[in-house]
Amino acid sequence: MKRTELFTRTEKSIGRDIVSKNAELLTRAGYVDQLMAGVYTYMPLGLRVLRNIENIVRRHMNELGSSEVLMPALHPKAIWETTGGWDNIDVLFKIKSRTNNEYALGQSEEEVVTPLVMNRAPSYKHLPVSVYQIHWKYRDELRAKSGIMRGREFFMKDMYSFHTSQEDFDRYYQLVKNDYLNIFAELGLTAKVTEASGGSFSEKVSYEFEVLTDAGEDVVYYCEACDFCVEDEIAKVKPGDDCPRCGKGVLKEAKSAEVGNVFDLGQKYGKDFDLGYIDEHGKKQFPIMGCYGIGISRVMGVIAEKYHDEKGLVWPESVAPYRYHIVMLPDEQNRAAAQKVYDALGADNCLWDDRDEVSAGERFADADLMGCPVQIVVSRKTLEEGSVEVVSRSGKFDKFMCKLDELNMIVERSQS
Ligand SMILES: [Zn+2]
Repeated sequence: MKRTELFTRTEKSIGRDIVSKNAELLTRAGYVDQLMAGVYTYMPLGLRVLRNIENIVRRHMNELGSSEVLMPALHPKAIWETTGGWDNIDVLFKIKSRTNNEYALGQSEEEVVTPLVMNRAPSYKHLPVSVYQIHWKYRDELRAKSGIMRGREFFMKDMYSFHTSQEDFDRYYQLVKNDYLNIFAELGLTAKVTEASGGSFSEKVSYEFEVLTDAGEDVVYYCEACDFCVEDEIAKVKPGDDCPRCGKGVLKEAKSAEVGNVFDLGQKYGKDFDLGYIDEHGKKQFPIMGCYGIGISRVMGVIAEKYHDEKGLVWPESVAPYRYHIVMLPDEQNRAAAQKVYDALGADNCLWDDRDEVSAGERFADADLMGCPVQIVVSRKTLEEGSVEVVSRSGKFDKFMCKLDELNMIVERSQS
């Protein structure tokens, strides 16, 4: 993409009071725009990051054998009354229409997905089933001060599975739980699995996936020697204790952000809707269900919190809006060379700062703020050697010169 085709701007500072680092950086770099507290527009570059995260998650869900659907965000009151959520979930957004009908905005979709699936699974032969969606969710948060890490409207992947036996449920639950760690690793995040109390109703144990960051709203105690990690609220241990799992490490305290969770829902939703299936003995049974979430927009906020320096964002390659940022100091010769780089590396991989009127300093500052992994500098000085200069935003590789007739070298050397 050419920078002159981008309508977004970068800002040196934010005029208003933004307390979270992710919101500050993402706003300054032109990735998001706040409409109101906890509600954001994803601008072209921000949307590319969001889509990259979404597509990594989508690939994993498909590999888990789950089918993608897109369920409504606007729900009738009745289904939330059926499960008790209408009166018991304080963050549920409630809407009254001009005809005095009441609706909820989805904060989770068990109320929609349970009838959706079970009306199509009359027999044990139709199960197990796993479906997921990637969609907006809504929570009536009193405070929404963590940028895109805690939105009133947020983008989320939620998957639901339906099983005929505890054994089959446990198998799938474990599969998803393990895969989540791979997903977060692919996104550049080290997630810790923590045991937490169940969801809104479940008395069963659920697991949360926490990433250590001072921007988080949770507190965990974790072991440095093994993967033991618990939330402070439920913990039978305290910081300084010996690790109850490995016995070698000492527990430390840290702030963290929840990026995903898996819930054992038991038979609650099948029972609430009185929707079951007929087992092999001709008897009605209720499905055992699981719910598995990943906060897509929150993950983007957490990545921004983990991957930045004093100059701006430093995106991991897997989610960067563009791999290359062509920093061209404009004159006719440089423009022709930059065009050559742009064509060789592909428009879909490059953000080309092709503006005329901007100072060199501003150009370099923008490239650092926006945080694409590889910067390619095209100037008179580099062209004196018939070359462009290739610089790593993260310092992953030493900068090097690359001849204009050997541009393939950029791809190879910038990966090592
Ligand atoms: Zn340990």
